Amino acid sequence: MGTTPLPLLPIWSEMEPPSRRVKYVRDPDKVTQIPESEKAILKRVAEKYVFRANDYYLELIDWNDPHDPIKQLIIPREEELTDWGKLDASNEESVTVSHGVQHKYADTALLLCNEVCGAYCRYCFRKRLFMEGNDEVSNDVSDGLNYIASHPSITNVLLTGGDPLLMSTRRLSEIISALRDIDHVKIIRIGSKMPAFDPWRLTKDQELQAVLRKYSTPTKRIYLMAHFDHPRELTDAAIAGINCFIRNGVICVNQCPIIRGVNDDSEVLADMYATLSHIGCTPYYLFQGRPTAGNEPYEVPLVRSWEIFTEAIRRGSGLARRVRFVMSHETGKVEVLAVDEHHIFLRYHRAKNPADCGRFIICKRDDEAYWLDDLESIDGLGSLPLTTDIHANDE
Ligand code: SF4
Repeated sequence: MGTTPLPLLPIWSEMEPPSRRVKYVRDPDKVTQIPESEKAILKRVAEKYVFRANDYYLELIDWNDPHDPIKQLIIPREEELTDWGKLDASNEESVTVSHGVQHKYADTALLLCNEVCGAYCRYCFRKRLFMEGNDEVSNDVSDGLNYIASHPSITNVLLTGGDPLLMSTRRLSEIISALRDIDHVKIIRIGSKMPAFDPWRLTKDQELQAVLRKYSTPTKRIYLMAHFDHPRELTDAAIAGINCFIRNGVICVNQCPIIRGVNDDSEVLADMYATLSHIGCTPYYLFQGRPTAGNEPYEVPLVRSWEIFTEAIRRGSGLARRVRFVMSHETGKVEVLAVDEHHIFLRYHRAKNPADCGRFIICKRDDEAYWLDDLESIDGLGSLPLTTDIHANDE
């Protein structure tokens, strides 16, 4: 009985989409599908919260549907001007230890190394970085590298911003290489929405592929913290983009917020989680939207978010349901475990104060609440949060 021998190497090129250079659009006036009658107000919104998109991503929009989720994600809305929330809703300032460096949990540091993204998500919790006068991002990461080198507890570094994959390959390589010179840094994470906004960023860049292969080693991996919000972003090109990360040795996971009008639907989330698990980009976190200025039209009440989330993961396989639903609060990552008729059950998954790690909290159910600060605990400790003034990164 003859069997066809398997090829020694997979023919990856069959997965590669034709290379494409996306064209950026920074002025809503240039988006021809936006009706003239809406352009003046959207321009006013974009003056406050910057607009940027590209031709590929705009092609994903169904312009015949006024509620199209991709449109909600990228096209400004007048309601963003509603006075609501804070620019730094989870007080990242309080964990900024050096220019462009955040250190909240002992083992993890964030390097804010780029203030530009492939496009700007309307609901972004870091939109302050894109505003004039903000200088939280540091293009020179030497202070950050020194800080990380002098803190042996830091085993994980997240490159973020903005989007690190929008930096030049040379700069990104220099940062990754410098981090690999620090022995105690084991995991390098790249937080990026480029696989959704420009799936060809990696597939057409052989040099960056070589850098990832070199520095994502069997004992010290590079992770892509991808950011897909809706299954329609998982195009053939995007899937080929993720495949390119994987075959260059990068572990891929996905994290995204729950966004009103985009993915606040259990079928949409279940569909996305299923595809993500099929392509090797495991769902990791679903975030409750932070109460960020300009984000009122995109927020979902906490209990409603939890209902959507639990219904979505009920339909998924084990890998699709590894995702956790959390609030990235200034005191830590607070996981929403359960909701019953009268209560919301929460637990610190990560805590700024190590003493809080794993702490269980029971709150009164409040269907109007959006955030931890809106809840009232029932253990006699009053309203939350309890530990905002503690700095756990002192070693
Ligand atoms: S890609 Fe990330 S940082 Fe950039 S606008 Fe979107 S959510 Fe914000």
